[in-house]
Amino acid sequence: MKVNEYYRPSSLEDAYHKLQEDPKNSLLAGGLWIKKMGLSVNCLIDLSTLGLNKISETKDEIIVGSMVTQRDFENSPIIKSLFNDSLAFAVREVMGVNFRNIATIGGSIMGRYTFSDVICGLLPYDVSLEFYPSQKMSLEDYLNYKGRLNAILVNIHIKKGNGKGYFKKVKTTALDFPILNVAISKVNGKYAVAVGSRPMVASLAHKAMDYLNKESKPDFNKAAELVLEELSCLDNMNASKEYRQDLTKVYVRRGLEEVSK
Ligand SMILES: Cc1cc2nc3c(=O)[nH]c(=O)nc-3n(C[C@H](O)[C@H](O)[C@H](O)COP(=O)(O)OP(=O)(O)OC[C@H]3O[C@@H](n4cnc5c(N)ncnc54)[C@H](O)[C@@H]3O)c2cc1C
Repeated sequence: MKVNEYYRPSSLEDAYHKLQEDPKNSLLAGGLWIKKMGLSVNCLIDLSTLGLNKISETKDEIIVGSMVTQRDFENSPIIKSLFNDSLAFAVREVMGVNFRNIATIGGSIMGRYTFSDVICGLLPYDVSLEFYPSQKMSLEDYLNYKGRLNAILVNIHIKKGNGKGYFKKVKTTALDFPILNVAISKVNGKYAVAVGSRPMVASLAHKAMDYLNKESKPDFNKAAELVLEELSCLDNMNASKEYRQDLTKVYVRRGLEEVSK
């Protein structure tokens, strides 16, 4: 990787102006993915000194700074207190502890990685993203946003509620990328189902969710079929389309059973 300049901004405004100066300038969070991609960057703008590494809560929501590491996220008592500690599953199986001590929640979301455990694990909850300059959008809207959003992710807002969640990462070896991710929540009596690494960035299965939230006694096998009708799976070198479809059917049903207990 080639970097011409390293810049430590004094404020979000300063970081944002530096980012706009050149399309080859890039924000630096944990730096793990940037390094792996080996890109050529004009200026790396380090976000580590802007105080974005805190987790706080209000009566209605949890606010996670974009520079919170995956490890601090999974260990946070505030995160553990919500949805039966289900949110931590979004990061718990990403590589090893040393890696999660560096990788950030913000870097994990902004990359919109097709393999992301983090995105899939957060998607079935009411999660919105706060950017600088002033802009807020749901996680789902960000995933569907076309093009590059040249803004700084400041905070991730997670709405509180009563309920629990389920997360399954299917992988070949312990430290591998996922072959499939399934995340399900039942919060305030409403189901949400997300499937990722198909191998495409995670999406919510709206047809199945409509069915589950309409029926008083939904059939979980039918819900799993509806997930597959809406969200396609593909082949890649790690798994075939058919294998992913079979996994989706099984883990969606199991997840629905789990959150309904
Ligand atoms: C070897 C390897 C294996 C991995 N395996 C998995 C896996 O199995 N599952 C999984 O879910 N993830 C996996 N990941 C991804 C990892 O979890 C992180 O998501 C990734 O490293 C990005 O986080 P980072 O803090 O390192 O971000 P960086 O590499 O610093 O940044 C990533 C991108 O996000 C941008 N960015 C960062 N912060 C902000 C911000 N606040 N606002 C706007 N843009 C921002 C950067 O400019 C850059 O484009 C893996 C990564 C690596 C390198």
